[in-house]
Amino acid sequence: MPDEMTHATMTSPANPATIESYHAHVYYDPASTRDRAERLRERIATAFPQARLGRWHDKLVGPHPQSMYQVAFPTDMLAAFVPWLMLNRDGLTILLHPETGNAYRDHTAHAAWFGAVLPLRLDAFKNGDAD
Ligand code: ZN
Repeated sequence: MPDEMTHATMTSPANPATIESYHAHVYYDPASTRDRAERLRERIATAFPQARLGRWHDKLVGPHPQSMYQVAFPTDMLAAFVPWLMLNRDGLTILLHPETGNAYRDHTAHAAWFGAVLPLRLDAFKNGDAD
């Protein structure tokens, strides 16, 4: 897909139709907040069975600066999931990003954060292992 379709330029706005799905990355501290992350994960699975819950990553992966797991979900779940997360994230920091095909931009310019903005390890994108 042409690059200009995935981000706003001086002459044209980006088209949200380029969003194929979304990820929410739920960050936690293995020593202090893993229990809350587990409870949130169970609640997501119950409330949103169409979401795909990724593996636990206690060790850092990709651009993520803390332990996390990924929640992948379809575009038609966004309107229900965002307010649910606002009320239920239980103090955890969450990165919400679209999947447009441009991983770098999706994790930076396109990202929305809940609770805090964490500094991503952007070198990961040079290695192609971001997700
Ligand atoms: Zn992701």
